[in-house]
Amino acid sequence: MQRLNKIDQKNSEKAAKQLWNTLRNEINYLSKEDQKLVELAFTEMVIAHGEDRRKSGDFYFIHPVAACLTLAKIHLDKDTLSAALLHDVPEDTDVTLKQLSKDFSKEIIFLIRGVTKFSVIKYKGEKRYAENLRKMFVAMSKDIRIIFIKLADRLHNLRTLKHVRSDKQKRIALESLEIYAPIAERLGMSKLRGEIEDAAFPFLYPEKYKEFVRISDLEINRRKKIADRLIKKTNKILEQNKIPYENIFGRAKKYYSIYKKLETKGKNLEEVYDLIALRIVTYSIDDCYQILSIIHNNFRPIEGRVKDYIANPKENGYRSIHTSVVDPDTNESFEFQIRTEEMHEYAEYGIAVHWVYKDGVEESELEKINPEHFKWISEIVDLGKQKMDETDYIKKVKLDLFNDRIFVMTPKGDVIDLQKGATALDFAFKVHEKVGQQATMVKINNKLTKLNTKLHNGDTVEIITDKKQKPNYEWINWVYTKLAKRKIRTKLRKDQLENDDS
Ligand code: MN
Repeated sequence: MQRLNKIDQKNSEKAAKQLWNTLRNEINYLSKEDQKLVELAFTEMVIAHGEDRRKSGDFYFIHPVAACLTLAKIHLDKDTLSAALLHDVPEDTDVTLKQLSKDFSKEIIFLIRGVTKFSVIKYKGEKRYAENLRKMFVAMSKDIRIIFIKLADRLHNLRTLKHVRSDKQKRIALESLEIYAPIAERLGMSKLRGEIEDAAFPFLYPEKYKEFVRISDLEINRRKKIADRLIKKTNKILEQNKIPYENIFGRAKKYYSIYKKLETKGKNLEEVYDLIALRIVTYSIDDCYQILSIIHNNFRPIEGRVKDYIANPKENGYRSIHTSVVDPDTNESFEFQIRTEEMHEYAEYGIAVHWVYKDGVEESELEKINPEHFKWISEIVDLGKQKMDETDYIKKVKLDLFNDRIFVMTPKGDVIDLQKGATALDFAFKVHEKVGQQATMVKINNKLTKLNTKLHNGDTVEIITDKKQKPNYEWINWVYTKLAKRKIRTKLRKDQLENDDS
């Protein structure tokens, strides 16, 4: 036993050294002094977790380093990085916050405390979960960097989720889609949001995921070739017009994002024009509009498909001009996204760009944040002060975050997400076309009711079918989603044709 420990110790030292080398390379944007602080956090963290291991068999300290690396890629400040490294120390080791406060500033301790969960002893089950959520929003309203760490923490947990028990996998994946991804989206942190969604996706819909990725990849690869040609062509056009720009590149849409678009809008893959978006990054707002007019002169714009998010930024602060056009050579539709460098950075990292390390951080950076954009955080904090039971609180938070989606369950416990306003019949068509067409009644939370009943977050829905059942015209008014409407119309048309023939 003694010998085994020694081997483990040796291995953990080796692994820690390698990790530090990786991390050191990623934080060279910090001043030497700040790098020293991060190194201290790293060392104390490695000593605290020691030879502890994760479910995957990896040394525990790999996890906080992974979270820290995600944040270092955004070039966040020394406090965020140090707290990310130490985030599991008080919860999972013998080292306490008090002990850490000897070496680390009040700010760092505040961040760690914000990320640390309540212990199991204090609360149990749902009550514990609700308290942790409440605490997280309060902490986040005081220092938004807490949520940056939480998101990075969650991303790594999702990426190693296959080592976790399967019922826990579903719960964590679902919570990521219901709570963390919408928070990231609302903060404009689209890159992390996309990564979290794509990491959670296969655990929630394992079968669908495989098939979906296979089909999407085929279409994405087909379009990549066309996109490459278009990029060359656009480069030439912009050069001829002497318009300064920094870069043109294609970006493939994330899987879960495509999936959501298909599900909510009832579209086909070929109708998703931004499957590969062509991004043009330039220097000034004037350049953006000039580029827009040049694009429209050279490609045929699709009517009603210009979105000016520079004049009208999205609620989360996102800015860019989008326009869908048809390439005359191939007849393929593509979306161009035109933006300045500053807008591009914000589009990827959102509010986090205000905490990006710069030599001598200017206060003015923080003043640029529009408090109106983040009013929702204090609204959720206020929600936590109201008297209500845990289940209601959790439900309300989810609804507040996700104001246009609901999540319901099949009797087997599979999660189906739908647009808010969806009915039991929408659910039936979403599960399977046949289930929709043959639906007669529904059991919602075990109560028999009509198919046009509106669904709510958390409902368990069981559709009762009959092979002799057929859709009729009234059904179109019974559904809310475009997907279901389209499927009903197609079936009605088909039945009509068959009747005409006979
Ligand atoms: Mn963690």
